[in-house]
Amino acid sequence: MAKERKDFLRRIVEEDLHSGRYKEVVTRFPPEPNGFPHIGHAKAISINFGIAEDFGGRCHLRMDDTNPTTEDPVYVEALKDAVRWLGFEWDGEVRYTSDYFQRLYDYAVELIKMGKAYVDSLSEEEIREYRGSVTTAGRRSVYAERSVEENLELFARMRAGEFAEGEHVLRARIDMASPNMKMRDPLLYRIRHASHYRTGDEWSVYPMYDFAHCLSDYIEGVTHSFCTLEFENNREIYDWIIDTLSLSPPRPHQYEFARLNLSYTLMSKRRLLELVESGTVSGWDDPRMPTIAGYRRRGYTAESILRFCEQIGIAKANSLVDVAQLEFCIRDDLNKKVPRVMCVLDPLKVRIVNYEGSEELEAPYYPHDVPKEGSRKLPFSAEIYIDRKDFSQNPPKGYHRFTPEQPVRLRYAYIIRCKEVIKNEEGEITEILAEYYPDSKSGEDSSGIKVKSAIHWVEAGSAKKVQLRLYDRLYKAREPEGMEDLNPDSLKIVEEALIEPAVIEEKPDVRYQFEREGYFYADPIDYSDERPVFNRIVTLKDSWAKKAQEKPVEPKERKRNQAPKEKREEPERESKQDDTLLMSDMERERFADYRERLGLRAEVASTLARDEELSAFFQEALELYEEAENIAKIVANEVAREMKKSRNELAFGAKHVAQLAKMLDRELISTKIAKELFEEMAKSGEEPESIVEKRGLIQISDPETLSPVIEEVLTSNPENLKRYKEGNERLFGFFVGEVLKATAGKANPKVVNTLLRERLKG
Ligand code: ATP
Ligand code: MG
Repeated sequence: MAKERKDFLRRIVEEDLHSGRYKEVVTRFPPEPNGFPHIGHAKAISINFGIAEDFGGRCHLRMDDTNPTTEDPVYVEALKDAVRWLGFEWDGEVRYTSDYFQRLYDYAVELIKMGKAYVDSLSEEEIREYRGSVTTAGRRSVYAERSVEENLELFARMRAGEFAEGEHVLRARIDMASPNMKMRDPLLYRIRHASHYRTGDEWSVYPMYDFAHCLSDYIEGVTHSFCTLEFENNREIYDWIIDTLSLSPPRPHQYEFARLNLSYTLMSKRRLLELVESGTVSGWDDPRMPTIAGYRRRGYTAESILRFCEQIGIAKANSLVDVAQLEFCIRDDLNKKVPRVMCVLDPLKVRIVNYEGSEELEAPYYPHDVPKEGSRKLPFSAEIYIDRKDFSQNPPKGYHRFTPEQPVRLRYAYIIRCKEVIKNEEGEITEILAEYYPDSKSGEDSSGIKVKSAIHWVEAGSAKKVQLRLYDRLYKAREPEGMEDLNPDSLKIVEEALIEPAVIEEKPDVRYQFEREGYFYADPIDYSDERPVFNRIVTLKDSWAKKAQEKPVEPKERKRNQAPKEKREEPERESKQDDTLLMSDMERERFADYRERLGLRAEVASTLARDEELSAFFQEALELYEEAENIAKIVANEVAREMKKSRNELAFGAKHVAQLAKMLDRELISTKIAKELFEEMAKSGEEPESIVEKRGLIQISDPETLSPVIEEVLTSNPENLKRYKEGNERLFGFFVGEVLKATAGKANPKVVNTLLRERLKG
């Protein structure tokens, strides 16, 4: 396999194959067909199928269908669709736990015969009570003393449907005092008088998960049974059943990984079913649903979802992943693939009074950095539509678009200036009269007119009406609890947007970037040429990052006990944001990526995003060391300066910068030392780690070393100490500075601060 750094599951598999424990890896994806699969299942699918693929093994698709009351063939189909759409194929036929009902029953009989299982007739409530608690041992039911014969007879009669639900259960005889509560004689079978979607009324007893899962894995020859963390305590039962039955090897083993939780999303099938049944959404495939069918209908690509699963990785601790990261993945994918076209959402007519006739302009579908070719004709005439928000009579400071005083470029066409604004009786603008500059045509502009931005437009006579469905996050709370957190604006419908004709007539693709508006997808069900309908897949920028100003951006899965980084973001000026309008597609995407995924500050992100060399350098360093903040700062400042000075002939590489950033993050060096190190490596090309080692520059954080230095500084500056004690607090900085000086810049300023404060308090 290609990946360098393997996750812990892949390391286990690799070792098992290496040691000869198994000849071939066999995994399975075992959903219960009681709902449509969601993005969390995509993670499980990508793990199970991905690992089998990477190690040349097999992955089964198994319907874990042991609960007759909730399961349905519709869900079986949805699960098959989802796996295939993601690009995987299961080994052989779809498998069903219900196909193993007889074999599972036989295993249960075997356990009874061994004296390892018994029929219990306590009520549900008594069973709970007898189980004890975390601090107290449980006690065994009197029915546990039944003879093997009696147990066999009762179990057979349970199967035959002679008892009511809840009258009896079959339990394993393990240990009522086990510290693992799950091991206190777990239930293996219960009575259910319900029709199963596959086995009909054949069975009146159904196996519990703990009994069915391990044995189904064994029956299928599964080697590695990957499940989510909440099953950690069930592993002991898994092993107990397989060991007690002395099944012949090879036997499967269970490993747990963290389930995916996404911000602004409720994922469990129960919650999703609620949304569907209450009519809150239009169905399991509503484009706002976190189901695979929903993402697909919305326009997400399978590649973007797999990429997301790869990015979040496989961890052993549960965490909350920011949904912005998923949104980034789809933007990033589409950015490289889809045609750019123009669609006006809120049309405002512009009449160009000095233009006569009509013409067709040639415009490329793809920006130059997308390795695809193709262009279309854009009709142009005296009547066009622009978006209402691109014109302002009272522009705020930094407004770069069209105003009565400020000309603007029509993308791929001419520069226009405003002559007159026409309004109706209510004072609404109904039309703008404009003039164009004939010598300002895009690509052959000799007008010398300066504009601050280019806006999109469509020609009035040829534009087509389309319906747009503007989807947004379904919940407005970062960690939604339920219906009360629904986002009332999760769907807005624009009935009559205007789109350039080529999109409808040529259909170069099904997904597009509508320039400056977002990525859109021709709805696979409701679209027709008479009534084109497009779903917004995702906006161009993350509009939520700003809404949630006080909240930290979460670039990656964060470990549970790691404190969030402080947000020190000053509010951005409108002009800053507008700058992104002048960036190329590529730069804008990069900027968004750096902001959203890596949480960089706007200034640094913008410096890096706009410079090809710098961003390449930055990303190279990031591959070597994944904490972005310090790398970004060094690259945007020091490396940028050095590149200018040396005309890109650098004596050092990404590795050097990664080392520097890492030492800074670990507080091994101070920023002052980091600057010195940078100067030196820029000259000599020597690696900072080796410079540090040679010159003993490691930062001093040890209070025992620093305290004497502080004492020394205080006693040798008695005057200042006195003035400080009289209330001249500014001298605090002086003392810190002296300590740093005395240690040749090696003292950790944070520690010095704390120690000094403590020392001077008394
Ligand atoms: P839910 O709780 O959402 O209804 P589930 O765990 O009951 O899901 P199953 O059909 O039993 O759904 O799950 C099939 C497989 O998918 C299991 O191996 C399960 O561990 C895995 N899975 C389910 N949800 C997630 C998730 N959020 N992240 C990763 N894996 C998941
Ligand atoms: Mg479930």
